[in-house]
Amino acid sequence: MKNKRHIAILGSTGSIGTQALEVISDHKDVLCVEVLTANSNWQLLAEQALKFEPNCVVIANKEFYSPLKVALEHTDVKVFAGKETICDVVTMQSVDIVLASMVGFSGLEPVLSAVKSGKAIALSNKETLVVGGELVINEAIRHNVPILPVDSEHSAIFQCLIGEENNPPKTVYLTASGGPFYGYNIEQLEKVSLKQALNHPNWSMGKKVTIDSATLMNKGLEMIEAHWLFGVEANNIKVAVHRQSIIHSLVEFADGSIKAQLGLPDMRLPIQYALTFPERLKNNFETLDLFSLNSLTFEKPDTKTFACLELAYKAMEQGGNIPAIMNAANEMAVAAFLNEKISFNDIPKIIEDAMMKHHYIASPNYDDLLQTDEEVRKSLQHIISF
Ligand code: MG
Repeated sequence: MKNKRHIAILGSTGSIGTQALEVISDHKDVLCVEVLTANSNWQLLAEQALKFEPNCVVIANKEFYSPLKVALEHTDVKVFAGKETICDVVTMQSVDIVLASMVGFSGLEPVLSAVKSGKAIALSNKETLVVGGELVINEAIRHNVPILPVDSEHSAIFQCLIGEENNPPKTVYLTASGGPFYGYNIEQLEKVSLKQALNHPNWSMGKKVTIDSATLMNKGLEMIEAHWLFGVEANNIKVAVHRQSIIHSLVEFADGSIKAQLGLPDMRLPIQYALTFPERLKNNFETLDLFSLNSLTFEKPDTKTFACLELAYKAMEQGGNIPAIMNAANEMAVAAFLNEKISFNDIPKIIEDAMMKHHYIASPNYDDLLQTDEEVRKSLQHIISF
């Protein structure tokens, strides 16, 4: 790579953020850290700042500004606080790529801000496209900025589509591990514990996405993400349960040919590819031994039992602010489940109810989306705080 790339990592203390810093450490000659942001984990943010010496750090939760400032007082690192500041620092001239790896709806505003200032986006925060797909993609086209997927499935599809600019995909197959409750029926799901839900068989991830993987909502969010990223219609996106998590997704073309991308389930690989695209740099990750594979299997998902997937499909078809309603209700329901306030099977019920209740807006602007998000959260506050 010719020029060193300066990266802003939004959500640097989370699972994707910390793995991105590993990737950057291994490729210091071509990648460096310009900005780090975190929600509230100021201790780890300070540690990261001491090691990577970014231009600045932002802690979203203002309560933690003082201890962070003290921890970094003998350095040149600038220290800021507040969500609104994150939207400002991503526009700094010295930033080349913004890695959006925060959790949930909070990712949308800083991504829009970065896109409008012409920054390349390495997108891990799928909720950004679920909620504001149309807005973000239109701005990305207007400002001619690439959106490089970090999600492993979308990275796979993105890689399959390279060189196929004149061949639109006929069908996109998103692979799903099936999560920890693969094969369970609805009665068995009623009794699952938080601990079981947090125990994903193949991937090590943050708590929100791990619960989303257990309900299959994660795959639902990913369908909507694929719809916006690759311009594929809802009925041309299919989910294939693939227990081995070796094939990260597949694309079928008009002639019936199918391309796939394979690798071990290691998020550092799609992170590295997004940060160094279009180059593939050597690394020391463990690689896939083809001869160790016994079989690769594919099944249709059980959408009757795992209703979240069906709800996401409906939201994608209906469009407008419905995905935003679904997303906000899901974030609230997952938070309530993580606090052990509701049962696992309550999650889809809460989401479906919210999707029926809240009013439909066909072409929402940013303020409409924000209002939708706030209204849904407010209407569900009781499930968290009772
Ligand atoms: Mg994924």
